[in-house]
This record gives sequence, C-alpha cells and structure tokens, in this order.
Amino acid sequence: MTEWQTILEMQLADDPPPLTVEDAEKIYLQAPLSELMYAASERRKSQVPGNIVTFMIDRNINYTNICTINCNFCSFYRSPGHDEGYTQTFDQISARIDELEELGGSRILMQGGVNPSLNFEWYTELLSELSRRHPSIALDCFSPIEIEGIAEISGLSTFEVLSRFRESGMHGLPGGGAEMLVDSVRSGISPKKGSSENWIRVMGEAQSLGLTTSATNVFGFGESIKDRVEHMKKIRSLQENSLSNGYLGFTSFISWPVMLENNAFGKIGTRRGATNLGAGSVEYLRHVSVSRLFMSNIDHIQASWPTMGLNVAQIALTAGADDIGSTMMEENVVSASGTTKTMATISELKESILSCGFTPARRDSDYNILEILKEDQAQLKI
Ligand code: SF4
Repeated sequence: MTEWQTILEMQLADDPPPLTVEDAEKIYLQAPLSELMYAASERRKSQVPGNIVTFMIDRNINYTNICTINCNFCSFYRSPGHDEGYTQTFDQISARIDELEELGGSRILMQGGVNPSLNFEWYTELLSELSRRHPSIALDCFSPIEIEGIAEISGLSTFEVLSRFRESGMHGLPGGGAEMLVDSVRSGISPKKGSSENWIRVMGEAQSLGLTTSATNVFGFGESIKDRVEHMKKIRSLQENSLSNGYLGFTSFISWPVMLENNAFGKIGTRRGATNLGAGSVEYLRHVSVSRLFMSNIDHIQASWPTMGLNVAQIALTAGADDIGSTMMEENVVSASGTTKTMATISELKESILSCGFTPARRDSDYNILEILKEDQAQLKI
C-alpha cells in the first residue's frame, strides 16, 4: 500500500486522528484527486450529517476603497488622495441594506480598506445607526487588518476596538485578509499587512467576545504545499484553543485561489520568483478536499463560486464542501481583478445544489437553518 493510501485509509476509519501536517502534505501531493475527494466527501458526511447544502442571502458592501496597505495582489484599493477613492455615506450603505431586506436577506458583509481619514467614532456611529435602522440584519464587518488600522488611529487596543464595536451592534468579524498565514509568504505579497500572529490574535479576541468569525485562505502566490498546510494548521490550532475556552470559534473555512490582474502577476512573480500563480480547478479541488480532512474541528467548508464559477463550486460539494456561499449581490474586491460574476440568484444557488443531489437550505450567518427550499421554489429569482 502506498503512503497516500495508508493515510486516507486511516482518515476514513471511525474516529480518525487529526491529520498531521506531514500527512496532509503527502496526500495533497500524491493522492489521486478522485480518492482525495472521496475521503473528503465521507468526512463531510460524518462531520455534517445529512444531505443539506446551505447558502445565504446577503450583500457585500465595500464601504471604502481607500487603503494604505497596498497589497501586491489587490486591484480594489486606491491610495488616499486618489481620484477614484470613495467612502460611502451612512445613507448610501443603509440604502443597500434596504435592498437586501426586500430580498429577504439576513446579513451584510461590510469590508473596505484601511482608511486613515475615518476615525473611531465614524465606525461606532455607523454600526449604531445601521443597527437602529436594520435590527434584523447581522452586521458582519471589517477584517483583522481594518481593526488593526482603527486601533492605531484611535490609540485603543484591537480588543477594545472590537469590544466597543460589538457594543455598537457588530455581529461578526469575517476572516478576510488571512491569505496565507505564513510570514515568508505574507512579506512577499502584503509587506505592510503584518504578521500572521496579528491576524490570529485579532480573530482570537473576536471569538472571545462572542463575535461570529470565519476563516479564509487565499492561495496560489507561489507558496509551497507545506506553506498551504501550515496555514491550515494555524487556523486549526486557534480553533482548538477557542473551543477549549468555551468559545464558538470559526463557523467555517473558505479558500480560493488568488485572482490577479496581469500587472499584479508581474509584481508578485518578480518578487517571489514564481511563474505559476493562481490555481486551476483540479488544484482548487485538491485544496478543498485536504481542508475538509484537515479541519476536523471546523464544521463547515464553503465552496467559492465567485472565483471558481458555479460549475466548479458544484464539484467542490462532492469534495467535502457543505455550503455554497451566498448571493453577495455585489462584489468589488475580487472582481476588481477581472472575475465577471459578482452575484448569484437564489435560483442559481438552489439549482446548483439540487443538480448535485443535495437539498438546498437557506441559513443565517451563524449557520442556523432558516428554510429548506422545495422544488417548486426553483423559479424564485432575485
Ligand atoms: S487587500 Fe485589503 S488591505 Fe490589502 S490593499 Fe486591498 S483593501 Fe487594502
């Protein structure tokens, strides 16, 4: 029996041991895709029993594109003073949430750049005002790097910022900006973004405050498979720590390959000496499969249709993913790199799930099931 066969057989047993970094690397590199997907799919069945695949009606809101962090792969940001820089007003943001409410949405995912012209009170007033106007909408906002930027401007600690934001109505801290939690990779792609330890610390603080959190992973920067598994290890370790402290920890893990404009390919390729950036469908499906097997303490693995397309996202549902993401309604960060699909209809998500043999269910930000959709709702469109 080959090494990968032995490892996958062990992972398919009842009550398997946590996958080690070394074994994860081996199956990532050596196991045939079909075997990897089968093992991940079996793990999904034991970790998230039943045939339901979830999705959410939500809206992305990118409240400002002004940012001082200058990540090499980012086509979304504009430096302070740039003609195309913007910050939305409270009314503009609220109007977007009105549209979401009309469609039965349950959450906004509001993220932007690190904008030095916005002070602490701007954020707390925004959160208070949105909570007042839209009490049924979960405000999942910002990312660790934004929290760090606000802490720096305000002179508060990141914990204090999160604590005050929570008091003002923040529901969750999405896990954006993790990219690769390996400092040698981070220093090449986002030298000003700070260490992986900062991201982990801020997410740990958010979890200790009861904020809903998710973990992300962008790959394909020319890093090694070892680096990719190292990222997963750091997420899993934080989850272990949070769960042992009685916190809820991450609701989910979502990964996608970096989407790059041609000029950004050049920038990163030159810096890291890499030529083969991003990742194709097969590599993505290997990554999803390994993440399902590795993340034994995170229940939900999400497929990424905005970067891979709905067809590949459907295949990811048979590679361990149990959630197909959300409608989004608009997307400005990844799409700035050239993806064309920036929203999905309820019908599209539902049909994508049904045609893979799963039962679609609408969920909220905390993965509570709100509604199991029936066949005759297939034509429902937004
Ligand atoms: S990825 Fe985020 S932090 Fe980096 S430059 Fe873009 S907006 Fe700024």
